[in-house]
Amino acid sequence: MTTTARAYAATSPTAPLVPTTVERRAVGANDVLIDIAYAGVCHSDIHTVRGEWGPIAYPQVVGHEIVGTVAEVGSNVTRHRVGDRVGVGCMVNSCRECVNCLAGMENYCLKVSTGTYASVDRDGTVTQGGYSTSIVVVEDFVLSVPESIPYEAAAPLLCAGITTYSPLSHWNAGPGKKVAVVGMGGLGHLAVKIAHAMGADVTVLSQTLGKQDDGLRFGADRYYVTSDASTFETLANEFDLIVNTVSAPVDLQQYLSLLRLDGTMVNVGAPAEPLPISVFGLMGNRRSYAASGIGSIAETQEMLDFCAENAIAPEIELIDAAQINEAYERVLKSDVRYRFVIDTATI
Ligand code: NAP
Ligand code: ZN
Ligand code: ZN
Repeated sequence: MTTTARAYAATSPTAPLVPTTVERRAVGANDVLIDIAYAGVCHSDIHTVRGEWGPIAYPQVVGHEIVGTVAEVGSNVTRHRVGDRVGVGCMVNSCRECVNCLAGMENYCLKVSTGTYASVDRDGTVTQGGYSTSIVVVEDFVLSVPESIPYEAAAPLLCAGITTYSPLSHWNAGPGKKVAVVGMGGLGHLAVKIAHAMGADVTVLSQTLGKQDDGLRFGADRYYVTSDASTFETLANEFDLIVNTVSAPVDLQQYLSLLRLDGTMVNVGAPAEPLPISVFGLMGNRRSYAASGIGSIAETQEMLDFCAENAIAPEIELIDAAQINEAYERVLKSDVRYRFVIDTATI
């Protein structure tokens, strides 16, 4: 039996999101039906519904930071039980046979993993995301959310958390390493908390000093404003790792100049526009420039457990579903402290 879920959907790149319903597939043998409690609002949701990453089919429900409780499980499900607190992030399936999937890196599936929204599912339908009251997901792509993480704040970990944890872990943020985080929004504020918990020396590079107290409270050791040219002189050749979370294009050469010998700048921010790069900016100090996309399912579970152990929780503004369009405008103005989360009971 299918489930009718209440949801908020975009109907065009420019129209406000509106209430609607979506039909969730009947629970298959390997599926989990989740009653969604909270859904985070990621900047990727905005890029997607506004067509900035390419055309999509409408109506489209977005949202890939999902937490809720298991309402029903299929007959083969072993990892989750009815009543468990669970989460779903940016992907709901992958090919399971390519070299990257077999290596446990489904986020880099060579056939492209199935996105939680705006992706073609195995049955040919377009996936509909988490701004919704329920969802059906195959059990392997459902995460266990530790109960010690506050329920209403946990959702942003499923995208913003793993997207920053993965590069920080891959490039060995830790004691003795200097890490800079560019942009302190949804991803950025979690990058600060996670890098600090990993033991790194953390610097925030923000457009504004308005969030300095917060940045230091989240664990940053230093905080600089990027509109001041002297910041780039003061911090030249300083960092082992720069994590760029900015949703818009930035002047890469400026930031690359802050990397020390063999330092790496990794983009997790995903502006639609190409970012020009100078080979000479990389050659000095043998610098590297990289990009990173979310994280695997195993790494997402590792991140959730790490956050539970280190008492890391996102800073959120809980909103009613009807406030979603206003929330989008505030995200676009960098006026988010630091992640909007929809209480799905209000959908
Ligand atoms: P967000 O909450 O809007 O944060 C972005 C931050 O970047 C802002 O708070 C602001 O911080 C800074 N910023 C915004 N516009 C800027 C501009 N024009 N120039 C300089 N700085 C600017 O967004 P988010 O949800 O964290 O997402 C950030 C980006 O990551 C988006 O592009 C999103 O699509 C992408 N993303 C990628 C992945 C992945 O797998 N790679 C996963 C999730 C999200 P300050 O005010 O502190 O400067
Ligand atoms: Zn996201
Ligand atoms: Zn694959």
